Amino acid sequence: MDLFNKPFMHVVRDLPKKISLLVDVTGMGKYRSVHSVIEKHTLYPFYTAFLGAKRRNKVFWSMFGGAVTRTYGTNSICASTSRFLAKLRYCPDCVREDMERHGEPYWHRVHMAPGVSVCSEHKRKLMSSCEECGDKIGISGQHYHPLRAACRNGHPLFAPGRSEDIVGHLGAALVYAQDVKMLLETRVAFEPGKLKKVYRARLFELGWDALTHEEMAQHYGESFLHSVRLTQCQPYWPMAVLRGEDHDPMRHLLVIGRMFGSLKQMIEGSYPCDWLLFQLPAHQVEGAMVKESLINSIA
Ligand SMILES: [Zn+2]
Ligand SMILES: [Zn+2]
Repeated sequence: MDLFNKPFMHVVRDLPKKISLLVDVTGMGKYRSVHSVIEKHTLYPFYTAFLGAKRRNKVFWSMFGGAVTRTYGTNSICASTSRFLAKLRYCPDCVREDMERHGEPYWHRVHMAPGVSVCSEHKRKLMSSCEECGDKIGISGQHYHPLRAACRNGHPLFAPGRSEDIVGHLGAALVYAQDVKMLLETRVAFEPGKLKKVYRARLFELGWDALTHEEMAQHYGESFLHSVRLTQCQPYWPMAVLRGEDHDPMRHLLVIGRMFGSLKQMIEGSYPCDWLLFQLPAHQVEGAMVKESLINSIA
């Protein structure tokens, strides 16, 4: 708070604004550009992957300075997404590795993304409370809350795991977590109109007329879908994704997992490649998107 010279600030964990100010006041600019902070340390690449070039760029600038008008603010652009599901979660094995490498643990952004329930590195279920005493670790609310190596009762959070076997529906949850990681790290982005055609081609290939909530539940399990607030009440939510009416990244990745096996498989599949977009640094090109096949560079 002192950094911004204000007594109180609303802390946004997923799509924070005024990143340029943060980079300025911390002197971070010597080491990192505002662009790289947004790309590498926020959930921006995830939330904007299915928005299309124009809106993706607007979100970028609203995060850069926070001066963008309300109409194009991150809240309104991502209003229909599952942002409210973003939570503080940790992986005990990651905590141990962070301690060994850096002397302290930190919140990993991929674990914060909506619907991510397993660590894709350690194939272990993520936690939000102490395994020993149940003390809540990621306290909700808007105040900054650093991750510490022990709970408030002193139990270490990196105790050797009771790792569960990743089988059945948990396997689908793991693929989802890996796909989120891929979106964050490779900065793949899509143009909705073109992606829609790829979806249509795949539906045809599979011989399916439609994709319903029930079919998604067979793959992911009803309890997983319920945990991310997808229920029978809207049985055709997958169709809104396929028709390009829904830009929610979580729902897109879930549909992709169901239809293609994984995001990687979809990208490497035999589809015309001009639908795949890759974002150049927004400060370099106004419009910020250039068509570029990632088929080779992504593997
Ligand atoms: Zn981990
Ligand atoms: Zn404890």
